[in-house]
Formats: sequence, C-alpha cells, structure tokens
Amino acid sequence: MHALVTDLYPLCRSITGEGLRETLRRLQKHVPLEIHEVKSGTPVLDWTVPKEWNIRDAYVADAKGTRVIDFKRSSLHVLNYSTPIRTKMPLAELRPHLFTLPDHPDWVPYRTSYYSEAWGFCAAHRVVEALPDGEYEVVIDSTLVPGALSYGELVIPGETTDEVLLSCHSCHPSLANDNLSGIAVAVALAKRLAAQPRRRFTYRFLFIPGTIGSITWLAAHEDVVPRITHGLVLSCVGDAGGFTYKRSRRGDAPVDRAVAHVLRHTGTSHTITDFVPYGYDERQYCSPGFNLAVGCFMRTPNGKYPEYHTSADNLSLVKPEALEGSLAAVSTVLAVLEGDGRFRNLSPKGEPQLGRRGLYGATGGAAQLPGFEFALLWVLNYSDGSNSLLDIAERAGMPFAQIRAAADALLAKGLLEAA
Ligand code: ZN
Repeated sequence: MHALVTDLYPLCRSITGEGLRETLRRLQKHVPLEIHEVKSGTPVLDWTVPKEWNIRDAYVADAKGTRVIDFKRSSLHVLNYSTPIRTKMPLAELRPHLFTLPDHPDWVPYRTSYYSEAWGFCAAHRVVEALPDGEYEVVIDSTLVPGALSYGELVIPGETTDEVLLSCHSCHPSLANDNLSGIAVAVALAKRLAAQPRRRFTYRFLFIPGTIGSITWLAAHEDVVPRITHGLVLSCVGDAGGFTYKRSRRGDAPVDRAVAHVLRHTGTSHTITDFVPYGYDERQYCSPGFNLAVGCFMRTPNGKYPEYHTSADNLSLVKPEALEGSLAAVSTVLAVLEGDGRFRNLSPKGEPQLGRRGLYGATGGAAQLPGFEFALLWVLNYSDGSNSLLDIAERAGMPFAQIRAAADALLAKGLLEAA
C-alpha cells in the first residue's frame, strides 16, 4: 500500500484532467476498475461538470531566470485549477497571488480555485519573504477547456445485488494521507474481496474527485442508489493517529454499529462522532434526498492534524503499519456486515445438550467457560428471531467473529435456522 502511495504521490491530480486520469490508469494495474468520462457541461444534480484542467508547467522566475517557485519540484506549487498566464510583473503585483503558511514557514500550502477562475502559486512563507523586489516572470502553462471529468469504478459482484459502497476521493495532488492513503487501502481491500470464495454483498468501489465526483456519480446512478445497503468513505487512513469514525446521517445504520463494534474490540484508542454536513463525499451520500447508510472511516480527521493540506502531508506522514491497521479494521467491519443475520434456536426449551453433540468441553467445573462455549450459550439464548448476531455480540461483549463462529457450529449441528 505504501508503495502505491509512493507511486501516485508526484502526480498533479485535480477534480478533472490527466493527473486524475493517470492515477486511475495506474490503479488499473492493480484492480480491473473502469474509467468513466463525463463531459464538461453535463448537468449533475444541482451542479455542472466543470471544464477540464490540465497543466504542463508553472513557475515564478527572478530577473536572472532562476525559478524561485517551481511546479516541477512539487505539484502543490500551483493554485490547483489556475488559469493560464505568461507575463512579467513586479513583486507587489504578484504578492496577492502567492499563498503561504506564516505559522509553518517551511511548508507549502495546498490551495484550489475550482469554481471561480483564478491563478496563483503556493510556496513556503520563508521563500516568499526572502524574495527581493523587482520584476518576476510568471508562467502557468495550463489549459481550462471543455473536456471531461474522470472517475474510476470497480464492481465486485456478490450473491445478492445489495451493495456495499466504498468511496475515496482521488483529486488531491501531492498529498499522501489526504487522498492517497484512502486510495491505497481501497485497492488492497478490493483485491482481498475479489479473492474471497464467496461474498454475500456486491461491492462497488468509487475513485472520484471530491464533491463533484460523488455528485456526478449519484446523478447518473439513481437506479443503483436504492441497492446501497452499507457504505464507507475512506480518507486519511495512513497517519499514526487512532481511528476516527464519523457516523452516517442515520446514526444507527448497521454500518455505524458494525464500525463501533469493531473499534471497541481493536484495543486501540478511537473516536466516534456524529454526522456533520462537511468533510468528504459522505456529505453527498448523506444529503437528505439520498440519506444513505454511509459513514466516514479515518484515522486523524481532515483539518485535525497540522500537516493537513500542506506539503508536510507527505510520504513520511503515511506509515505502512497504519495503512495495514486501517485495512485490517475495515476488513473486519465488512466481515461483520457479511456475517450478520438473525437466527432461531430450534431447541429453545432448556439448553440443548451440547456435550452430546461435541460442542462442549468434557471437563466441567472450570470457573470461566472458554470463549467458544460462552458464545454458544449467548447465540442459543438470544437467537429468537429478533436479535441479530451483532446484537448478541454487543450484549455478550464479545468480538463478532466469535459469535459468528458459534452460530456456524450450531447451524452445522442443526440447532439453529435462519430467521
Ligand atoms: Zn483534502
């Protein structure tokens, strides 16, 4: 996963254009995703697909021709979606177009101007402060013309048409945790799911530009939307911080309960927050007209780490073990959703004799039952057709996998049936 983040890091992604397209093409080497193109000007819900932005070069050069700000060194150096310009101007005239971070004078900020045409550069405050007065050559070799918005989509079919949506924004340039970590975990997850012998749900992965991408997808898939049973937006999942989960707008959807359950049993610090109408594409999936059961799975949330939207959100901020931990946690959440269900105890009068069926240890009298035997009793007692296995796991304070294993054993012995 970290190697994929490293591979994609230098590309100048945006909400449209070759950087985004090339990112999706590189993902195709890992998973068979389809790249869709939606023409500029296409009406999508209350929005319109914007013009396509592409950039080849951008710089500010001093009187000697030395590039003092250079897009070739980092894609963050240009205001994302800058209109083209090629001129000379004095520093005073250039200054309003230079974005810096006085609080972090060595970091380059990430700034965008998607929906109002503008041009500008982002640079380290220390560099800009040191620029002598004089004339500067200002070049942004970009185009902003009708083209298309690209997004990637991968559908892994399951036994039912009920879908699990996994969505990650793919529109940020050289930022590692914000966008690339989510992409890397989603790709690893897709590979893992595709390799599974059976899947109850159909899985749909979206690699989309933030906001306009989910709006564009939703506008074109109103037929698919009712099939989305569960969903997660994956973002900022590669830093060393603990997990953060932002609930869906519904607040108590099965995915919300599954994530809370899994995080409770990971044994690491975590935070669960209610839905708020800002953040990532959950804003669109959870807009009132859709109100989908889609939460947002993160480590340190957007805006809550100092490196957020700066050049310090780089390859060293993202840790392989953090990516691995996020993948494991999300995989466990999906296993809960896959494995949950309601059952009925077929021998509900008195406890069925488990020892006779080889389900219970022969030596009695130990102070504490082994987890498996405990789980059998919980599943038998509460499987009255109304409690789901997740309900039972929560009530028992046991990890879902243990409850599911007990249910499987009871099903195999004919003591349980699907409710
Ligand atoms: Zn961001």
